[in-house]
Amino acid sequence: MNLSSIIKPLLAWFAENARVLPWREQVTPYRVWVSEIMLQQTRVEAVKAYFLRFMEALPEIADLAACDEEQLLKLWEGLGYYSRVKNMQKAARIVMAKYAGQLPRTYEQLLELPGIGPYTAGSISSIAFGEPNPAVDGNVLRVISRITASRADISAPKTKVKMTADLSGVIPHDNPGAFNQSLMELGATVCKPNGPPECMQCPVKPLCQGYAQGIAQTLPVKSPKKARKVEPRTILLLMRDEKIAVRKRPATGILAGLWEFPSLEGYPDDADLVAAVRQMGLEPLHMAGLMDAKHIFTHVEWHMKGMRITVEDIPAQNDADLVWVSPAQLLESYAVPSAFRPYVSYLREQHGL
Ligand code: SF4
Repeated sequence: MNLSSIIKPLLAWFAENARVLPWREQVTPYRVWVSEIMLQQTRVEAVKAYFLRFMEALPEIADLAACDEEQLLKLWEGLGYYSRVKNMQKAARIVMAKYAGQLPRTYEQLLELPGIGPYTAGSISSIAFGEPNPAVDGNVLRVISRITASRADISAPKTKVKMTADLSGVIPHDNPGAFNQSLMELGATVCKPNGPPECMQCPVKPLCQGYAQGIAQTLPVKSPKKARKVEPRTILLLMRDEKIAVRKRPATGILAGLWEFPSLEGYPDDADLVAAVRQMGLEPLHMAGLMDAKHIFTHVEWHMKGMRITVEDIPAQNDADLVWVSPAQLLESYAVPSAFRPYVSYLREQHGL
């Protein structure tokens, strides 16, 4: 089929049906950039409040470039995939140094910035600058696979390359941003990822090959992902005098630079737990099991058991890099990743916060 035939009905549908979203109300390159980075791996509904808060705290690229890392991580707390915001700050600093604080407008220049891949470069350049570049993410791969009845595996990089090239050939030069957004919007609200596509509501149904052939629901073809590694962990809530021990994670690796409760690999028995806590220079007085929890990262799953341990006293120095804070301080000033949310909620409840 000729993909250019979808442009007119899609744009007309989008003009009528585009959702009202904070980043669409006032379109600037910076706002498009922040929203697109937040929307990677996070639902639109969840992003709205984060976006507004972020924009209030850091309204300009210069503010993002200058922001203290602790504040930045706190603003991102709960969104996950923290490398996204760290890369955004690195990019903001480059933009300040190299482009006088203005995001560059070409796809190629955007692509050189940390954390900006082909999809984000396509989005920013088309939506904010009107450059005719496609923005192909999982939504668009699904929608176009269905419209064209393509059985190509969308996990294969070459499928994305081909689809990007196909869309490059048809993207309207007078309104590329609306075209890209209309495809994303169709994927988010009609030709959805989970459950059957709502073809009866779809503006391109008369053109859709997947619908015509009755195979839309079986598309796209996607090879199964490798199983994630399961890591059992015991999370320690070490308490003394209304204070709790936290520590900063290493500067690289999973959840780099964020604050966490100390934890142990596996599920040690009581004797091993006592020994491990003593190794941190602490004397356990009382131990009680807390809830189990699970957190899924891209390649790893943490299967956690919680343990609340009251210790005898807080040593003046410790070898385990522990910092003792009140639960209120922890909530106020420390970025704790959502992996630990059940234990943070427990502290909230226990301390009436
Ligand atoms: Fe998706 Fe159905 Fe529309 Fe085709 S007709 S694009 S399968 S919602």
